[in-house]
Amino acid sequence: MEENKSMSAQDAQLAPGQLSCRARIKAYGVAAGVLAAVGIGAMLWFWLERDYPVLRYLLIALALPLSFLAGQWPMVAWLTASARCDACSAPYAVSESDKEETFLSATPRRRESVVGRSLSGPNEGKTLVRKESWTEERYQVVVSYACCVCGEVRQKHSIRTVKANRTSDDIYRR
Ligand SMILES: [Zn+2]
Repeated sequence: MEENKSMSAQDAQLAPGQLSCRARIKAYGVAAGVLAAVGIGAMLWFWLERDYPVLRYLLIALALPLSFLAGQWPMVAWLTASARCDACSAPYAVSESDKEETFLSATPRRRESVVGRSLSGPNEGKTLVRKESWTEERYQVVVSYACCVCGEVRQKHSIRTVKANRTSDDIYRR
């Protein structure tokens, strides 16, 4: 009862944007927890199979909630910290508002590498060479983050590199 009261008191102070942001962070936390629990559970399942065929059920049952928390807690802490506004310090307020990619350049690239040597057949004694070529495309990425309480917008700049039009050809050479 007491907890319900304080929860709704906090909810009343949060704008709708903050409430949905908090719900989203909770959902990501649950997803990270489930992923961690499934991953660690599967690892223990195979790891303990030989030495503890029966005990492993108990050990996994004990490990699951812990691995869930180990996945959930850092995810929620990290997302909560990055959703806090630096300007007005409102919680659950900052979210991605815009993303823009600008094409910068396209550079043709090629590479030759020795894969091995043919030991028999018509190409016996020849070197197997792999010729690769691709276009290196670079994009300027600007992601905008906006605070839904004070309206402050911050931008994060980065460069994205893509290997496009990849071709690969193996040839024999003396
Ligand atoms: Zn703000």
